[in-house]
Amino acid sequence: MVSKIIFLGTAGDSFVYGRQVRNSGGIVIKTGGYQLFIDPGPGALLRAKICGVNPRETTVVIATHCHTNHVSELNAVIGAMSYNGLDRLGVVIANKTVVEGIEGNIPVLPEFHKKCVERVISLKEGKKVGIENIEIHALKAIHDDPEAIGLKLFTPDFVMCYTGDTGYNKDLIEQYRQCDILVLNIVHASGEKSDINLSSDDAVRIISAVKPQLAIITHFGKSMIKADPMMEARKIQKKTGVQVIAANDGMVLSPNYYSAEMKQKRLNFYPAGAKQDEKEEKGSEKAEDTSGDNSKDKEKEAGEEMESYEEDHISKEKQSLLLKNGNNGDKANNQEKLG
Ligand SMILES: [Zn+2]
Repeated sequence: MVSKIIFLGTAGDSFVYGRQVRNSGGIVIKTGGYQLFIDPGPGALLRAKICGVNPRETTVVIATHCHTNHVSELNAVIGAMSYNGLDRLGVVIANKTVVEGIEGNIPVLPEFHKKCVERVISLKEGKKVGIENIEIHALKAIHDDPEAIGLKLFTPDFVMCYTGDTGYNKDLIEQYRQCDILVLNIVHASGEKSDINLSSDDAVRIISAVKPQLAIITHFGKSMIKADPMMEARKIQKKTGVQVIAANDGMVLSPNYYSAEMKQKRLNFYPAGAKQDEKEEKGSEKAEDTSGDNSKDKEKEAGEEMESYEEDHISKEKQSLLLKNGNNGDKANNQEKLG
């Protein structure tokens, strides 16, 4: 199966996601039979439906930090992927603030939702976890959630870095090196500065040093929308000599084409217009398959689906999900081993 990276939404700051100038909801990665749901913010489930993503197929849900635009639908996605714990499979990976809370911040994850999944892993910067043949490394991030992390995903097809929300520091650059695809959360346009979020100028510094096969900017704030993300991407590309794309809501990318090994480049995405409509049509069909939204008696169907959850083929797929380094040990043990 060809891997996919799906941008459910591209909104960054509260001005943009608050009014849904751009959609929000996070990023979904499908690779090697697994579905990773990253930073499920406002509208995650609705956007998943529109983009043809079945949240039930999620094997790993990841939250990089505790801010609303990254976690507001975390528990909703956990509910959707596990039938609220009836099918206790799948893994949650999140930073410490989300899982355990820190002083002044209660955990985003309540005990109920922790028990809905097979395992909850609190991941700190510098630690890594393996899920079958996917390795997830937690990267350093400088943000106003002090435990915020970025991600580096090693899959059989490609290596992707995701900065998460972070300010710029040249010490961050090393950790992004040797990736095929670099996804950067660029809140601010060129000329603006922030200690806790990246600007287009920071993107130029990072991309010039890292030289990925492809850089994607997303998570746009007010000034980026005003400046036009596509124009900013062009400027960054010109300055860095690296291909740079400004993500669109609903953009689907085939990362295999950007793998250094493949040496082949082709973009497969659905911009606004005919293809988008076609995609959304397909997307809603797919989502309807699982939600029964269009049925005459959707509650009845949902009930039947719940009853037959044991026979659900997704359950069977999920049953093959094993953490590389952890078996049935308790959470603390497991985290130690995984780290
Ligand atoms: Zn944030």
